[in-house]
Amino acid sequence: QLSAWLMAVFLRGMDSTETAALTQALIDSGQKVEFTDLSARIVDKHSTGGVGDKTSLIVAPLVASVGIYVPMISGRGLGHTGGTLDKLESIPGFRTDLPVEEFKAAVRHCGLAMVGQSPALAPADGLLYALRDVTATVESIPLIVASIVSKKIAEGIDGLILDVKTGHGAFMKDRPQATQLARELVNACNRTGTEATAVISDMSQPLGRMVGNALEVQESIQTLHNEGPEDLTHLCLELAAHMIKMGEAAPTLQAARSLAAEKLRSGAALRKFQELLTVQGGNPAVVEDCGLLPRARNVVDYKAEQTGFVQQVRADRIGEAAMLLGAGRDWMSSEIQHAVGLELTKKIGDSVIQGEPLVKVHYNEESRLDKASKILKDSFRIGEVRAEVPNLIQEVIE
Ligand code: URA
Repeated sequence: QLSAWLMAVFLRGMDSTETAALTQALIDSGQKVEFTDLSARIVDKHSTGGVGDKTSLIVAPLVASVGIYVPMISGRGLGHTGGTLDKLESIPGFRTDLPVEEFKAAVRHCGLAMVGQSPALAPADGLLYALRDVTATVESIPLIVASIVSKKIAEGIDGLILDVKTGHGAFMKDRPQATQLARELVNACNRTGTEATAVISDMSQPLGRMVGNALEVQESIQTLHNEGPEDLTHLCLELAAHMIKMGEAAPTLQAARSLAAEKLRSGAALRKFQELLTVQGGNPAVVEDCGLLPRARNVVDYKAEQTGFVQQVRADRIGEAAMLLGAGRDWMSSEIQHAVGLELTKKIGDSVIQGEPLVKVHYNEESRLDKASKILKDSFRIGEVRAEVPNLIQEVIE
């Protein structure tokens, strides 16, 4: 019956009242985290997933350093996209499996916590998702909306910022679909009494330069030192500014932007990240010494075959190459290798000379390197004309 119903929704859609009702039913299937004793607003961020998207690791401590509470429940990577939990677990000792009471205590004590989905929150979503997987009904906007929003609302938040990705590496490849998903996510949040804003951001090429778990932690730490790549830093500051405004720690978006930039510059966000590591069992010394993170056995350059300008770096293929190296999963049950991944030395708009490295490949096994190299060959397009860098933030929907 449920399979038939899923297929009916997949084919016919649901209106916003129906989507809100499903969202509420999923929330009501489990426990809801209640933060009754906190003195400031509680705000979270959700990304629809991408390649090199390590924004949570930077944005959550940045926003918490302002005094807003960030109870973040994250997922694992699947297919070409990465997951925050896998990245965090590459930090020696870091625990993502805190029970609900410990999670609440961490938020109360540190202002933030970053954990995996508890089976007690929105359990019906897990069952429904498994059935969607085997009935090929995952890619239905109302079902995606109810699934995402129910899990976030069950965290007990006042507001949510949604980073909806668009482009080759995103769930929603084209812009109109991404806009529709963003509108419906905001609408479903509002209907369940939670404030929401969606930022539509580019995922045609990977975000930042590192793809792979420990490498992405390294780049996040570099960004928290205010020495990160420009695109990643810019997106993190914008997402943080929206969260700070929503958390009522600044009266306008402009004031929130200044506050976010100040917390990054002063090292307050970095110190908050270090506090998070201490609370959740991770080695806080990684913040000053990335050599403590796992390292791949080998690093080899993948070189440009021609001279010109980089016109395309396909995020989906880069993600797939990283997955084949062992950084991601093709099945939910696959084991991952935290140290392996890709370091992009060239991105869209950069000039390149034949024989110069496009990517540094961090790998453990030769057989995996061969498979990944075949995909890398199709990831880059080099031409004679300098290509426009895609607009990182394409639209904001409130
Ligand atoms: N992420 C979720 O949590 N649920 C979906 O249905 C799709 C993406």
